Amino acid sequence: MHITESIMKTEKDIEDFDAFGDDHVGASTNTPLREDAFELSSKEKIEIIKGDVRHIMETLGLDLTDDSLNGTPKRVAKMFVNEIFSGLNPDKKPKASTFDNKYQYGEMLVEKNITVYSTCEHHLLPIVGRAHIAYISNGTVVGLSKMNRIVDYFAKRPQVQERLNIQIVKELQEVLGTKDVACIIDAKHLCVNSRGIRDIESSTVTSEFGGKFKEKEIKREFLDYIKLDTNF
Ligand SMILES: [Zn+2]
Repeated sequence: MHITESIMKTEKDIEDFDAFGDDHVGASTNTPLREDAFELSSKEKIEIIKGDVRHIMETLGLDLTDDSLNGTPKRVAKMFVNEIFSGLNPDKKPKASTFDNKYQYGEMLVEKNITVYSTCEHHLLPIVGRAHIAYISNGTVVGLSKMNRIVDYFAKRPQVQERLNIQIVKELQEVLGTKDVACIIDAKHLCVNSRGIRDIESSTVTSEFGGKFKEKEIKREFLDYIKLDTNF
């Protein structure tokens, strides 16, 4: 009786766990990092992950002596640490070079169709889409490519789209010294498109409107500029 109960509980937990992931619920606006997240060097992390990937592949029954599979564990480990999850490392954060707004341009600036390549933290599958960012300068401006770099930095983490959206806005608010920043992300989640419900057509839109962008007129203007006709 006791054992049955405990098994049932475990199965229930697993069901809840699955539902949580498939619903893509994000728990926090900060990426949940361990306190010892940066005690190991990138090189040490690659070595450990290499062994873990090898273990997964061997458990699946793959023969890693095959020439085609032999280099995969190292390739994946390097890709995780140096590329697709490199945004976990604060050293990679784009430097905040800002300029004075010499032209006294007081209107909204919109940078649209910024490419987003991220990874769903519930399935470790790609999220691919576009980000559209707007801000109204209060005297400080950033180089246009800075916005792309900020998107890329936060995207290169295990993510949920809502958190990615919020992290981009918060960072720009800090860099620009104004609350008047907005971001909309329109993205496809391969965990939805290629597995589970397998809906190839659907995409997910999230938005975060700070400061003046909460006002109806300003929000409308931003939405008119970007006209969400994003194609992938
Ligand atoms: Zn997912």
